[in-house]
Amino acid sequence: MPVSARAARGSAANRWRTAHDAPRRNGRDDRVTRLTLLSPLPGWVSPLDEVPDAVFAGGMMGDGVAIDPTGTQLVAPCAATVLSVHAARHAVTLRTDDGADVLIHLGIDTVALGGAGFAVRVAAGQRVAAGDPLIDLDLDRLLAGAASMVTPVLVTDADAFEVVDRHPGGAVAIGEPLLVIAPRAIARAAADAGDGAAVARDVVVPLAHGLHARPAARIAEAVRGLDARVTIAKGDAVAPATGVTALLALDVRHGDTITLRASGPDADEAVERLATLIGSGMGEAGPAAPTPAAPPAPAPALPDGMLRGVTAAPGLAIGTARWLASRDRAVARDGAGADAERARLDAALAQVRAALAAATGAAAAIMAAHRALLDDPDLIDVAQRQIAAGRSADHAWRHALRAQADTLRATGNPRLAERADDLLDVERRVLAVLAGEGDDPAAPAYPAGTILLADDLLPSDVAALRDGAVVGLCSTRGGPTSHVAILAAGLGIPALVAIGGPLAEVAEGATLILDADAATLAVDPAPGVVAAARARADAAAHRRAAVLAAAADAAHTRDGVRIEAFANLGSLADAQAAVAAGAEGCGLLRTEFLFLDRATPPDADEQAALYCAVADTLDGRPVIVRLLDIGGDKPAPWLPLPAEENPALGVRGIRVGLRHRDVLDTQLRAILSAGAACRIMLPMVASVAELTAVRGVVDALRADMGVAHAVQVGVMVETPAAAITADLLARHADFLSIGTNDLTQYTLAMDRGNDGVAGGVDGLHPAVLRLIGETCRGAARHARWTGVCGGLASDPLAVPILIGLGVTELSATPALVPEVKAAIRAVTLADCRDLAARAVAADSAAAVRALARDFAGGMAA
Ligand code: PEP
Ligand code: MG
Repeated sequence: MPVSARAARGSAANRWRTAHDAPRRNGRDDRVTRLTLLSPLPGWVSPLDEVPDAVFAGGMMGDGVAIDPTGTQLVAPCAATVLSVHAARHAVTLRTDDGADVLIHLGIDTVALGGAGFAVRVAAGQRVAAGDPLIDLDLDRLLAGAASMVTPVLVTDADAFEVVDRHPGGAVAIGEPLLVIAPRAIARAAADAGDGAAVARDVVVPLAHGLHARPAARIAEAVRGLDARVTIAKGDAVAPATGVTALLALDVRHGDTITLRASGPDADEAVERLATLIGSGMGEAGPAAPTPAAPPAPAPALPDGMLRGVTAAPGLAIGTARWLASRDRAVARDGAGADAERARLDAALAQVRAALAAATGAAAAIMAAHRALLDDPDLIDVAQRQIAAGRSADHAWRHALRAQADTLRATGNPRLAERADDLLDVERRVLAVLAGEGDDPAAPAYPAGTILLADDLLPSDVAALRDGAVVGLCSTRGGPTSHVAILAAGLGIPALVAIGGPLAEVAEGATLILDADAATLAVDPAPGVVAAARARADAAAHRRAAVLAAAADAAHTRDGVRIEAFANLGSLADAQAAVAAGAEGCGLLRTEFLFLDRATPPDADEQAALYCAVADTLDGRPVIVRLLDIGGDKPAPWLPLPAEENPALGVRGIRVGLRHRDVLDTQLRAILSAGAACRIMLPMVASVAELTAVRGVVDALRADMGVAHAVQVGVMVETPAAAITADLLARHADFLSIGTNDLTQYTLAMDRGNDGVAGGVDGLHPAVLRLIGETCRGAARHARWTGVCGGLASDPLAVPILIGLGVTELSATPALVPEVKAAIRAVTLADCRDLAARAVAADSAAAVRALARDFAGGMAA
């Protein structure tokens, strides 16, 4: 029979094991993709249109097949929950774990028998496994009394699921594959892929977290507008590339091989674009992120009233318990006509899209992912069908999102279950607009000192907390990598998730100590415990307030040495965050973000507009613009570089610009026209000739463009060659800035993206520190300054060592600038030099870290 090969592989020993029940293979869970329903009766299969009843034959009850039974027991076709058994005992409805509703209707017009001939073995709400008895049949009696015992087996929720394969007809044994069903988006994508796929390519996914919501949104964006049908497959499961939720349901993880397929006029380009985009790591390449542990089983309350959870955002808070008010709203089922409801939905989606686009800071990326959900053609499609069937826009939108959220939850993957909350959040925003409440879900006003408790929190619950009244968050469910966790950390609100059932016992108004660092929640603790926690929280708040209050001031060591604290930027939003955090300039503008993920490079005007916007935001502070750093692990689709056996040692960084002079000239023109604040920095330099060549181009362009202001040209020290010849480079460079990420990988010969060596890639290795010291000495010989713009500059433990080695500028991620300044202010140059001398003489990175920790402990004491 032509049902899927996977189902057909079933042997007598595992005849009841459906695809859904199948054990996870290779640790992967592919159960959301397709579900095989096994025959619940022995008999003779016929197509639905041969059923002697117009309602069933016309497909009005759903899609499936019919069985003329020869056996005396109806059994469950898959693992499911019994939704209902008809009072006349002739029909049973089951809901599968993926949310599909299956109706088995024993005979035609058998309702008239009033239950005679049927003995029911289950009750509504009961869990059944495939093969469990549902109803016993007295077949002789039934055949005597009923017009027909032909039994339709149907999937009734045609909006969400469809039959993708079915028994061809003829004899069937109980437990043989009967129907294969799949979520509608996946089924359609599979059909598309099988239908004239012209181009296909396998890609291994290098993203540490796999294809989660944000990469999925970028993938959808990358192929939008192309004249091609594009799908992505993992194993048997297929999703359209434009369907964000269907992509999520594929559960693609780090290291998975996926197949990109496209057909249509732009098929080649679509596959090329996606292969390049995904292969680049999309800025998230790295070792596999550990899969978050499933939420722990409900933790019993400890004897002293302590509950345990999972830390989602660090910190300590003492406050009063307040439960989140219910946010479920009632919606009308029926609409006021399809045209009117369609217009309402379109308008609401447009309004929410615009509101989400206005998000800034940490929320911006999350809201961009939510925007992609609003554009997901599969969600829109399901909603439109509902509207066409007479439903209100509100009902249709909820129906579409809940079905997808259920699909994600059914994967059993905690990370995907977290994404289901994003869907519910998008549902809530759109329903609020449809109800005329506006697009900014305002938080209810909570009293000061509230610790907000909820069964589950949505991103908008957290994003709306603006007045500082809520000091902590706790939820029964949720996960530590959710968007709620990112937003809470961004707002500095401690959060504990996955506390489990015992949280429900916490009474409104209870006194709580939320110690997110220790992952505990103390309920109504003794007054002495509260007082001690308050003292700790006050000290921490005092320190943090002092760090933030001083963020705008220049940083000097205790003995008066000035160290500049700059920020690394990758977007205009970063520039705003950097200024707010007290950055004194930009030490590294990663211009790649403007060049990747697109079919053609930006022209000089587009580039200049962006550089000007960043410079304007930095308001006179210096902006060090790094020349395009592509090649290696950062390919760009518009500049096909030849395949290289070892791209990390191939044409990358400044080597690309020197071979593609049009690209270099265009970028330099854009920087030169963006004003005097902009400086130029060359990536991946290995020899003086590269620097002098670029300097020559800069001078020629300045003359050609009539640029009067002096332009500083500096070098990134990312290769051991550059570090060791820093004195030679410094003769021609205005400054040196050490990229410790690449310098570490090239010094230690350890790929920064390879999990196998991840444990060893530490910039505090004495070999890297000696090269940093060598760089500072070489630069000083020509009175040039040395900065660090690699990850080490954002590590407060490393800051004293870098200062001791001679670094005078640190360029960190914007959020960490205040902490970097605090670390500078805590030390003296003499102590830093002493620490650095001991660090370069240590025999491992671990030994250096131990020294640095001791040093930090001594400073704090
Ligand atoms: C570095 O290598 O340290 C650096 C700052 O550059 P990137 O991380 O962008 O390669
Ligand atoms: Mg680098």
